Amino acid sequence: MSVLIVGSVALDSVRTQHEAHENLLGGSASYASVAASFFGPARMVGIVGEDFPGAYLDLFAGRGIDCAGLQRARGKTFAWSGEYETNMNNRRTLSVALNVFETFRPDLPPAWRDTEFVLLANIAPVLQHHVLDQMRRPRFVVADTMDLWIQTTRDDLVGLLRRVDMLILNDSEARELTGIDSLPRAAAALRAMGPAWLAIKKGEHGCLLFGDDEFFTAGAFPLEEVKDPTGCGDCFAGGLIGHLAASRATDAAALRRAVVYGSVIASFNAESFSLRRLEGLTRADVDARFEAFRRFSRFE
Ligand code: AMP
Repeated sequence: MSVLIVGSVALDSVRTQHEAHENLLGGSASYASVAASFFGPARMVGIVGEDFPGAYLDLFAGRGIDCAGLQRARGKTFAWSGEYETNMNNRRTLSVALNVFETFRPDLPPAWRDTEFVLLANIAPVLQHHVLDQMRRPRFVVADTMDLWIQTTRDDLVGLLRRVDMLILNDSEARELTGIDSLPRAAAALRAMGPAWLAIKKGEHGCLLFGDDEFFTAGAFPLEEVKDPTGCGDCFAGGLIGHLAASRATDAAALRRAVVYGSVIASFNAESFSLRRLEGLTRADVDARFEAFRRFSRFE
């Protein structure tokens, strides 16, 4: 079963305290689609410019990602650059160049309008709305977001919440969007705004899943070295929707497993820059780490 993923496709420049790299493959749709591709076919909707390297398109094709919804426009690809402090949880955005994104309308290939599982990866809420406007009757819609949209297009984002089954955001964003410090209370307030399910990510401290009469807490994999956490949130969302679509289920047990699979892919992603760690990864590697998560959280 396919998943439809809309988001950014970017050329990233990333600097940590140890390394700096330019023109890396990045963007929320890139990370999320590759993450989802471990579980089944992904359909990617986005836009790139004339400078987008063919090798990156080959990478998508190699993962079986259908790029029929990836528009190619005159001009430059969306470009983002960021820098991590010694504490890799702290990142500063150095620059953002919207480029081809400025005029982007995510129009779906007609055959994709019936896709049942949809991820609105991090992108302007107005574009997330535009995708939903074209969908027929999606079975499960997940939306991801970021602090920028809470600060600049709050009304669009709040309107979107009524249209989705699940919202993913991190702890500081949950507090910022609700003005509530307690995460369980913020979660209740967010769920009252629309989504039946809510995942609150807490970086290296794992994530929380909230639903009707449902609470689940998943840890994060204990990585000894984090090389580059860029895209971990997108990998979490992509792995989650990919697993849901593959299991064709949206009950609490499926959501719990999906949260863990999302965490597994995100943990691998942090082990190298851009999508490099995921390129050589197999489904067996993913399942082995999934079992490790199970072992780490079991108790009598
Ligand atoms: P994450 O580390 O999960 O927050 O995702 C980082 C990715 O998000 C990078 O690859 C960026 O290219 C992409 N990104 C950064 N800012 C934006 C934005 N305003 N809209 C869409 N994608 C963005």
